[in-house]
Amino acid sequence: MTDHQRAAIVTGASSGIGRAVVERLRADYDHVACFDVATGENDWDDERVHEFAVDVRDPDAVADAVAAVESVADVAALVNNAGISRAVSLADLDPDEWDRVLGVNLKGQYVVARAVAPGMVERGEGAIVNVSSVAGLRGSATGGVHYSSSKAGVFGLTKGLAKQLGPEVRVNCVAPGLVETPLLTESNLWTEAALAEYAADLPLERIGTPEEVADVVAFLCDGASYMTGTVLTVDGGSMLR
Ligand code: NAD
Repeated sequence: MTDHQRAAIVTGASSGIGRAVVERLRADYDHVACFDVATGENDWDDERVHEFAVDVRDPDAVADAVAAVESVADVAALVNNAGISRAVSLADLDPDEWDRVLGVNLKGQYVVARAVAPGMVERGEGAIVNVSSVAGLRGSATGGVHYSSSKAGVFGLTKGLAKQLGPEVRVNCVAPGLVETPLLTESNLWTEAALAEYAADLPLERIGTPEEVADVVAFLCDGASYMTGTVLTVDGGSMLR
């Protein structure tokens, strides 16, 4: 990396939506920094893409990684995307699992935002995009109350940060519906039949692709100059049902 270039940080960048966001942001930023607990999964074949082994729940690891990026490029955008989910009923949901999901999905977003915000405010430029879910708006029959609670919390985090970090930093949120990623297809959240039934009932009659979410994230990062504190659903119309 060289001085005075613009970098975007993407968390949960090794898979699914995060990976598509990295691909998309390569067009808009000089560098993209990938924060994920799983690294080395993608051959980016691009010296402008940098992987950091970071657990977003760990403030020290996050601070070190942000400092490494900032020492050579200005962090102009943060996409808080890392998230986990697994189907569990209320009866089977134990407090440790609650803490684990809230820790990654909500605390993790605060931890990384807290680390990048001072630099953004000082430079007078920055955009943060938090990835929530329609589960935060309408609850989830499959994802567990801890998942929908974490995703509803992201709305409050987004709006609070938007108020505190303006006018220098814009903070917005996307709430995807079902998107074809490992989180969806390799978890116990949905059977294939249930997924097909859900998709057929959507106004757009299909689940989304990671690239379709990445396009909206990119718009909120580098366009959308008069938008802050907003939630954009990217859900094939699921909220209309
Ligand atoms: P995914 O499982 O494909 O990718 C998630 C990534 O996050 C993985 O690379 C994983 O290693 C990483 N990660 C997990 N815990 C981490 C931690 N503690 N620190 C750093 N990285 C960590 O999932 P996805 O479907 O691409 O989900 C991305 C985001 O989109 C999540 O926040 C998820 O809740 C949200 N979302 C997904 C869907 C969907 O249908 N796929 C719908 C709504 C919202």
